[in-house]
Amino acid sequence: MSPFPRADYARVSRYEPDRRPVSLDLSDNTNLWGTHPAALERIRAATADDLARYPELYADVLRDAVSVRFDVDPDCVTTGAGSDDVLDSAFRAVFAPGATVRYASPTFSMIEPLAHMNAMSAEAVPWGEALVDPARLCEGRPDLIYVCRPNNPTGESAPAEWVERLLGLADEAGPDAPLVILDEAYADFGGETLIPWVARYSRLVVARTASKAFGLAGLRCGFAVASPETTLEIEKSRGPYKVSRLAAEATAAALRDDSGWMASTVEECLANRARLHSALTERGLRPFDSRANFILFAAPSGQARADALSLRDRGVGVRPFIGIPGFGEGLRVTVGPWPLMERFLEALDAILLDGAARDRANGEMTR
Ligand SMILES: *Cc1c(COP(=O)(O)O)cnc(C)c1O
Repeated sequence: MSPFPRADYARVSRYEPDRRPVSLDLSDNTNLWGTHPAALERIRAATADDLARYPELYADVLRDAVSVRFDVDPDCVTTGAGSDDVLDSAFRAVFAPGATVRYASPTFSMIEPLAHMNAMSAEAVPWGEALVDPARLCEGRPDLIYVCRPNNPTGESAPAEWVERLLGLADEAGPDAPLVILDEAYADFGGETLIPWVARYSRLVVARTASKAFGLAGLRCGFAVASPETTLEIEKSRGPYKVSRLAAEATAAALRDDSGWMASTVEECLANRARLHSALTERGLRPFDSRANFILFAAPSGQARADALSLRDRGVGVRPFIGIPGFGEGLRVTVGPWPLMERFLEALDAILLDGAARDRANGEMTR
């Protein structure tokens, strides 16, 4: 009999970031301009059947919308309750005793727990080293390689040539080639997608979410594009009825829409990202060059958790990161409408001033 709880779940914890309510939450990279109007319209038109009946087994309405928008065959599309769920299904599809997931760190914080939840081992390579040489990600023949592009939390985007080299190296393993997941959660802000590459690389899976640029995090809808053979394996692992009818229909409506709502919020986001980058540089906070809708910058006091708490005390939520190789501790802030960025900068200036005052007081004490 297998014991409960499972021994390997000792290293898995319930996901509980600091979510004390704040008046301005800039911690989760959702769309701060609101939600997609076409999706909202579909939800408002809901009927009793939308709730009372089961949804389509494999969310064909969503698969079709993805297929049209990205010009791929519907057999190349899988869906899930958020892209976390798509990643989970993909992990489960490759699982075998002793299977490993390799990724460049820092990256999406769910990857390590998702690996552990699926009884796989997670192996991190420092991001900088992997960027110099993608072969670092293939060493030791992992079963799965995860790359986030643009990368959360740094915002950097690995060059397309780098991805091409990685995929070439991965393919050299022949029938044992690892599955390569390219997470494009922020591709709408980076302006480039590698979805067309799935036609060339049978082991490539490109994951997308409706939670960020589309402003639909509350619906929990994600999808991925891969070869028909790979997609079929992930669909088996996913199982039926994963996406609710309203989520699938509303996300499909947003994908089909050509009113320009998303493009215009993305455009404003990119302008504000440049402005915020300058404001952080002026304050000496070494912001990363981001291709996403967030910016990672140096924690003012050098202690990210303490700084995030100070900002929270002032009503502003940001996400702290510690141990970033070659950088130290940082804070990640979501880019939104400029009045919100002004409120964030005011709170940031207040903690910078507090820090300066503390330094002066300490200086006097030691004098
Ligand atoms: C936010 C995010 C996701 C999306 O998750 P959902 O489950 O679709 O909400 C996926 N990958 C990365 C890197 C993210 O930052």
